[in-house]
Amino acid sequence: MSDICIKDEINRLKKENNIKILAHNYQNYEVQQVADYIGDSFYLSKLATELDCETIVLCGVDFMAETVKILSPDKKVILPVQEATCPMANMIKPEDIVDFKKEHKDFKVVAHVNTSAEVKAVSDICVTSSTAVNIINSLQEENILFVPDINLGNYISKNITNKNIISWNGYCNVHDRVKKEEVIQMKNKFPNAPVLSHPECREEVLAVSDFVGSTSEIIDYANKIDAKEITIGTETGVLHVLRKLNPDKKFRLLSNSLICINMKKTTLEDVYNAMIGKGGKEIELEENVRVKALESLEEMIRLANK
Ligand code: SF4
Repeated sequence: MSDICIKDEINRLKKENNIKILAHNYQNYEVQQVADYIGDSFYLSKLATELDCETIVLCGVDFMAETVKILSPDKKVILPVQEATCPMANMIKPEDIVDFKKEHKDFKVVAHVNTSAEVKAVSDICVTSSTAVNIINSLQEENILFVPDINLGNYISKNITNKNIISWNGYCNVHDRVKKEEVIQMKNKFPNAPVLSHPECREEVLAVSDFVGSTSEIIDYANKIDAKEITIGTETGVLHVLRKLNPDKKFRLLSNSLICINMKKTTLEDVYNAMIGKGGKEIELEENVRVKALESLEEMIRLANK
């Protein structure tokens, strides 16, 4: 089937079977084109709770589909490609946290939403890249274990000086690859283009960037600043969203290494096959894990709205 035919079929199936397609900002352009909503993982999972549909096809990686299921247990949630996983999320296991807690009873465990349902279930609270600093700042506990991203952990520690924050040694292999020299080169070559970087990049990269923020914060900031040229230090898929929203601005990627191969595994054909029951993976979680993981997410939502 040609891409045009597949898109038509996907749109027909959405209507006929009451399906919504949610796509992460880092997805391939053709997948974004058939999505009902595009955004970051937590935005999409919160949005899913408000949608009046029976099935959600989540185009992203596994922990994102799990987060949708945690918050919307009555909906069928399908990840189109079973192998689309997040190497960073896989760098921490629930037993690592259980063992840590046994020996460090006075620590609060804070998990990035980029973690499995099982890790969320044994953590005390979740955070997103954009809420991490404010939420951890508002916690009463002085001792914090942050999992799994050491780069985001370092960024949080730099912004909160009155707590003892230990970070797990995980990292996002996409953002972690960016080099400080690449920022300097881009700034020399395009001096009028501010560099906007994600806090999952290394500390030395953030130190020479002009703005640091989550994917959504980068999009918001790029939308509002006057600059006509902007260099983007996060995954390349965001450029589709930015160019659509800002046709008068020129966007360049900070580094050619900013491509998440797991996010690019989902094709239009995978989305179509997931919709007709011939592919993908339906997310199923043990209820005790789901309920415990939900508590960590609800605690995040409670503190973020304070
Ligand atoms: S960009 Fe990084 S954090 Fe996001 S899914 Fe890919 S590896 Fe995981």
